[in-house]
Amino acid sequence: MRLTRRKESIMAIYNPKSLIADEFINDEEIRETLSYADEHKNDLELINQILEKARPKKQDKGYVCSGLTHREASVLLASDIPEVNEKIYQIANEIKLAYYGNRIVMFAPLYLSNYCVNGCLYCPYHLKNKHIPRKKLTQEELREEVIALQDLGHKRLAIEAGEDPVNNPIEYILECINTIYSIHHKNGDIRRVNVNIAATTVENYRKLHEAGIGTYILFQETYHKESYLKLHPTGPKHDYNYHTEAMDRAMEGGIDDVGLGVLFGLDLYRYEFAGILMHAEHLEAVHGVGPHTISVPRLKRADDINPDDFDNGISDEIFEKIVACIRLAVPYTGMIISTRENQKVREKVLHLGISQISGGSRTSVGGYAGYTPEERPHDTEQFDVSDQRSLDEVVRWLMENGHVPSFCTACYREGRTGDRFMALCKTGQILNCCHPNALMTLAEYLEDYASPETKEIGYAMIEKELEKIPRERTKEIAKQNIADIRSSNRRDFRF
Ligand code: SAM
Repeated sequence: MRLTRRKESIMAIYNPKSLIADEFINDEEIRETLSYADEHKNDLELINQILEKARPKKQDKGYVCSGLTHREASVLLASDIPEVNEKIYQIANEIKLAYYGNRIVMFAPLYLSNYCVNGCLYCPYHLKNKHIPRKKLTQEELREEVIALQDLGHKRLAIEAGEDPVNNPIEYILECINTIYSIHHKNGDIRRVNVNIAATTVENYRKLHEAGIGTYILFQETYHKESYLKLHPTGPKHDYNYHTEAMDRAMEGGIDDVGLGVLFGLDLYRYEFAGILMHAEHLEAVHGVGPHTISVPRLKRADDINPDDFDNGISDEIFEKIVACIRLAVPYTGMIISTRENQKVREKVLHLGISQISGGSRTSVGGYAGYTPEERPHDTEQFDVSDQRSLDEVVRWLMENGHVPSFCTACYREGRTGDRFMALCKTGQILNCCHPNALMTLAEYLEDYASPETKEIGYAMIEKELEKIPRERTKEIAKQNIADIRSSNRRDFRF
C-alpha cells in the first residue's frame, strides 16, 4: 500500500485519518479531552454508561467488546471514586480472561548494540555519555547470546539497538535477525524476533518485514510535542513528526503487527494516555487494524540518568490504573510489561490486562552469555532491572499464581497477523487454538529447561488446563503432542 502525504499543515486540525502527526495526535484535541475528563470525572451516570460499554458481551461464539474512545477512557482515568476504580479493575480482568484467558506470553530483550547518535535526556546511551563502554555484538558474540537465551528456554526475543547509521545500519540489524533465526541449539530455537529500533524508512521496514520479523516496536516516549523536542535535543530522533509517523511507514512497508508505548515519567500521564489511544485509533482508521501491542515502560535509574530529575513520575497505583484503563479501551491489543517493574507491581497488573511479560532479562549488550542466572553485568545496562529473578523462577511464580506461561509463537508463523489475529480473538477460537499452543510450548519448556520443582508444578497445571479445551478432537491431539514432547525430541507442534 502506498500512502499519500500532504505537507505539514500550519494549523493542525484533529483528524484520526490524517497521515500527519500533528493532526492524528492533535494537541488541542488532547487538551479538550483532558478538560472533558475533568468536567465529568464525578458524573456517575456517564461513568456507568462508559463502564457498561467496556464490559465484554457474551455471544454465541465467544465475547465481543466494543472498546472505548480516548475521551471515554480519559474520563475513567480521571475519576478518583473508589467504587469506579473497583469496577474498572474488575472489567479489566474480565476482558483479559475473555480474550487471553489465563495465558501469559514470555519473551526476553536482546541488546545488539548501544552505539547511538541521539541525545535523549532519559537514556544512558545518549551520544554525550562518554564513560559507558560502547559495544556492538559481532555475529559470533550474537550466536553465544542466542545459545544462552535458548538454554534458558526463550523462544521469542525483542531485539534492541541504539540509532547509529554507521555502527548499526539496517544491514547489520538484518544480518543479526538472520543469525538469530538460523541457530538451533539442542532442542532450542528462536521462533519470533520482534524488533525495537529507531524510526526508519518504508524501504527499511519492507526489508525487516521480508526478514520475517514479528512485531515492530517503537516507543513514542512522549506524545507531547514540545516536551518531545526538549527531551530529544539532538540527533535524528529530534524529528517528532518522523518518529510519530513511523508506524504508518512500517505498515506501508508490509509490517502488520506494530507495538506502541510511552515512557511514563517524561510528561503528564493523562496527556500520554490520551495520546496513545489516539495513536491506536489512527492506526485503526487508516490501516483497519490497531496496534498489536502496547508497552507501558516507566522511567528507571540508569548510569547517568536519575529519574528524580524528571517531574512526572507516577505512583504504582496510578500505573496500575493506566494499565486497567488501556485494557478497557483497546481490548484486542496485547499489553506488555518488562522487568523495569518489580515482582509486586507485576503481580498486580497481570490481573488488569497484561498479556506478555519478560523474564530473566538482561538490558546490557552481551548480558546473557557467560553469566550465571545470579550474575549480571552493569557496564552497558540501559536501565536497572527491578525484577531480577531467573526465567525458571518467573515461570514457576506465574503458575503458582494461576497463570499459564506460554512460549507460543504460532500466530505469526501461521500468518495470523494484523486483523487475522483479531478475528481469532473475536470469534472465540482462542481456547481451541492459543490454549493448546500455550500448553504444548509450556511442556517443551518444562521438558528441556525447567528445574524439577517447576516441572512438577507445570505438568500438574497442564493436566488441569487441557480439560478447558472445548473441542474434543483438539484436546486429544494436544494430549498426544504433549506425550510426544515428554517421550521424544519432537518439538514445535502448533495449531
Ligand atoms: N533506539 C531505539 C529507539 O530510539 O526507539 C530503540 C529504543 S531503546 C533500546 C528501548 C526503549 O528503552 C526506549 O524507547 C525508551 O523508551 C526506553 N528507555 C530508555 N531509557 C530508559 C530509562 N532510563 N528507563 C526506562 N526505559 C528507558
